Amino acid sequence: MNEFYQLDVNKVYDYVQQELNFFHEDADIECSEIGDGNLNLVFRVKDKKHNKSVIVKQSLPYVRCVGEDWPLSIGRSEIESKLLEIEYKLTNGKVPEVYKFDKIMYSTIMEDLTDYVIMRTGLLEYNQYPKFVDQITDFIVNTLILTSDVVMEHKEKKAYVKEFINPQLCEITEDLVYSEPFFDAKRNNIPDYMITFMEKNVWNDKALILEVTKLKFDFMNNAQALLHGDLHTGSIFINQDNIKVIDPEFAFYGPIAYDIGALIANLIMNYLSTDVRCNDTGLKNKHMTYLLDTVKDVMDVFRDKCMKIWPEVVKDNMVLRSPDFAKYYIDDIFVNTAGVAGCEMIRRTVGLAHVADLDGIEDEIKREETRKLNVLLAKEFIMKRNDILEGKDFVNLIKNFC
Ligand code: ADP
Ligand code: MG
Ligand code: MG
Ligand code: MG
Repeated sequence: MNEFYQLDVNKVYDYVQQELNFFHEDADIECSEIGDGNLNLVFRVKDKKHNKSVIVKQSLPYVRCVGEDWPLSIGRSEIESKLLEIEYKLTNGKVPEVYKFDKIMYSTIMEDLTDYVIMRTGLLEYNQYPKFVDQITDFIVNTLILTSDVVMEHKEKKAYVKEFINPQLCEITEDLVYSEPFFDAKRNNIPDYMITFMEKNVWNDKALILEVTKLKFDFMNNAQALLHGDLHTGSIFINQDNIKVIDPEFAFYGPIAYDIGALIANLIMNYLSTDVRCNDTGLKNKHMTYLLDTVKDVMDVFRDKCMKIWPEVVKDNMVLRSPDFAKYYIDDIFVNTAGVAGCEMIRRTVGLAHVADLDGIEDEIKREETRKLNVLLAKEFIMKRNDILEGKDFVNLIKNFC
């Protein structure tokens, strides 16, 4: 095919065969559209007879959940497929394997992760994943520290920075995470009762807005590492044995704290949600403890792993290699992680794109209370971030506040 066309369930099998000749001649094929995201089309093509399947993800020239009024570069699919290939190597397969990227159709044919669930869904069912901390901290260290100036030769790193300039997708983050939730913006998805609350607690709080602006400028100007760019619990496939991280179309060179902060925020929102949704006291306590331990351990294990690899991966600069510099570098990541987590929590409450953890609270009064609590806790994270230098500082802030 030499021209772009939009795939659908009737066309996607022929497309896969023409590109990859993946399926047997006597295959019993079933095609479905499984995308639940806001931006793209995702199909599963499955041969039920031989139990073989692939996923096809195609980007459209506009934002799917809004429509043609919001055009968006389809080149993001090339960024996504390139990043998947880089991260596949850096992490020893903790992302889906890409079988083929097609530049004309802006689509990626990749491994079907049938044995996994989206982590947000799993956590909302109160599942726990004992291997998660070790696996996600490996993922973070291997994708972020290893693509930073700490490790990479500086000219090679700058070539990567250039390759992963992703202005349209960065603009979405700059607007939806760092700007619009902090004023009465048109695109905000905000219940009426939150408007006066936000006016009083956020929109008129000049000191808070200043801190959010500093964090936004860090996002825009700190080309620290090759980020995933959207590392929330909806971008992580998980089971009891493994994780696979998907959906890196927002990838660019940005602050390490942006990836870690998104993850931490989404764990915290699940914690607040569990408190008001779970009716079984034993299960509730167990799950909430698990979530706080996970927040704490992700941060502390991340620091430990950084400190451990630091002298090995920093090759040729004595100062960079020193434990004092390592501490300075990681402290800065901690502080900004807390700040990013706060921004992510606020934007998921009143911004355009919400999360099921909060919106799915069935009891209306509890939903309203939890949304407000989430915003106030987020403010604490932003305003007190300079004191957050260990995993227990995140946990204590949550415990003291809730
Ligand atoms: P979007 O960019 O539109 O958010 P995602 O990459 O997040 O798209 O995919 C949307 C959904 O499609 C995921 O939540 C998941 O349910 C499913 N999906 C995506 N990639 C795979 C895969 N490799 N294997 C199985 N399911 C997938
Ligand atoms: Mg082709
Ligand atoms: Mg997604
Ligand atoms: Mg996406």
